[in-house]
Formats: sequence, C-alpha cells, structure tokens
Amino acid sequence: MPKQKSRKCPECSGAVLPGETNMVFEQADTVFTIKNVSADVCTACGQSFITGHVASEVNRLVNRMSEDVQSFVKTVPGIAGRRHEVAIAV
Ligand SMILES: [Zn+2]
Repeated sequence: MPKQKSRKCPECSGAVLPGETNMVFEQADTVFTIKNVSADVCTACGQSFITGHVASEVNRLVNRMSEDVQSFVKTVPGIAGRRHEVAIAV
C-alpha cells in the first residue's frame, strides 16, 4: 500500500487529522481514563487511531497506576472490593 500523508478513515473515508482522544482501561476493580492521548482522529465519524508506540506507553502507565491503586486501597479501610475510578490527563 502506498504511504499517504493525509490519511483517510477506514470506517467512513473521512479525513483523519492529528488530535487527541480519551482511552479507557479496566483492570481488576479499577477503571482508568487517560485523557488527551495523542491520536489521529477522523473529522467525520470521530474514530480515533493510536500508534503502537503511544498504546504501549499508555499500557505501561496504566499497569503502574494499577499497582499504586492496589497498594493504596490496602491502606484505606472500607474501600477494598469497591469499584475505583482513576482519570488522568496527559
Ligand atoms: Zn471516519
């Protein structure tokens, strides 16, 4: 496939431009929302495309935060077993 500078959305053929998106992960009892992740975003349907590099960096961040949340939960009485939500903007 030829490499194009301006990409087209595989879903709707709309123009894909550099932008930001939010990514949501669920690990154990915790939901992580990572905001302002660099992504290419379709201007027509809003579908976002994240590079493998960005995805692996975000994964690393979530894994690390997940460990911190687990150890934090142990120090706070009464919140173990509940569902936790963590949102960060990068
Ligand atoms: Zn699209």
